[in-house]
Amino acid sequence: MSVSWSTRPHRILPPVSDQVLADHASAAFAEAFSDAPQGVWVAPGRANLIGEHVDYVGGRVVPFALPYATAVAVRIRDDDVVRCTSTGPQPDWTGRVGDVGPGSPAGWAGYAAGVVWAMAYHDTIARMPGIDIAVSSTVPQGAGLSSSAALECAVALGVAELSGVATDDTGRAVLARDCATAENVVVGASTGLMDQSVSLRARAGHAMVLDCAVGGVDHVALDGVNPKLALLVINTNAPHRLVEGGYGRCRALVEQACARVDRRVLHAVGDVQDMVDLATLGAHHLRRPLRHVLTEFRRVDVAVDRLRAGELAAVGPLLTASHRSLRNDLQVSSVELDLAVEAAVGAGALGARMIGGGFGGSVLALTEVDRIPVVAETVLRAAREAGMPEPRFLAATCAAAARRVY
Ligand code: ADP
Ligand code: MG
Repeated sequence: MSVSWSTRPHRILPPVSDQVLADHASAAFAEAFSDAPQGVWVAPGRANLIGEHVDYVGGRVVPFALPYATAVAVRIRDDDVVRCTSTGPQPDWTGRVGDVGPGSPAGWAGYAAGVVWAMAYHDTIARMPGIDIAVSSTVPQGAGLSSSAALECAVALGVAELSGVATDDTGRAVLARDCATAENVVVGASTGLMDQSVSLRARAGHAMVLDCAVGGVDHVALDGVNPKLALLVINTNAPHRLVEGGYGRCRALVEQACARVDRRVLHAVGDVQDMVDLATLGAHHLRRPLRHVLTEFRRVDVAVDRLRAGELAAVGPLLTASHRSLRNDLQVSSVELDLAVEAAVGAGALGARMIGGGFGGSVLALTEVDRIPVVAETVLRAAREAGMPEPRFLAATCAAAARRVY
């Protein structure tokens, strides 16, 4: 897939080819384990075009796979030893199959080894084998681009292929469930199924419309729909200022708010103003969370319609409206995210919004290709002047789902 527009401005993190990334993982494997892997798999990070904080209440989300990915080199062992090494800042981990389960191991190996445990837990594979895993990645960690799912999904696909488990789209839906179990149960992070689903089931050049109520997946063209426009990820590089448990608290409010309204209301067809009026029906402290959900459901509907009609430009204002809703009604934004959105839109982007659970991470901006340098420079300058960390920029083209490299 072409990402030529993205590599021109020097500040944009250049995507790395599968081969190069796989070679890194393979070299890390050889160094750590003095052996060759049985294979190397890569799985992408993701951005979510629109549909935030609606996945866990049965909404539709529109994520796509990024051209930044995690490679894992794997060898299944015939004993019960489990070894994980990463070219990232994480220390190596060595343990035994029996050490892997709910809440264990702590740290990053919970994502890698935890997936193999979850695959056995769900009977996707007969039992958890011993395994050696080496990881190399271009997905920034903790930036809201789902480096965690990329790691899980690359491991899952590798273990599935080495175990003769189906990896067609239906098989991948099963693997996404297993990866989410690893993250929820082994790591103990409360996440939905979106990140793992898109990393395993995305289609190059397309965004994926995931209906979280029924798990249905549809693909809608995004790259090349309007060659004059591009999506840009702005990683604010700001620490996750997690007001402890902020995501969980917000999620609980949203779930409570939605539990009080009829599902037909949630999925009602109406314009955004109708939704705002409906939201006043709820209990006082649940009104704003409900208003976010109701209006975000509508924004997703309109965005998908516009995309299908090839009108990418029309999605811009929906992104900015989604950001406002996340900032004002859910209060999950941060000063760095707000500043990046404001600066990007001020510099002529058609729209921008925070992506991911919030409280830090990244912004996705839709802009004319020609304006990318101006948007990037303006965002950088704004961050510098505010004394904030330097943002990094990533090319938000739509990559393919997880795949074997060799
Ligand atoms: P995000 O998914 O937004 O990047 P998370 O906090 O969900 O943020 O996941 C980041 C965690 O995933 C890291 O702290 C680490 O434990 C694990 N992780 C991701 N990528 C790697 C990697 N390449 N090597 C080791 N651990 C990784
Ligand atoms: Mg994550």
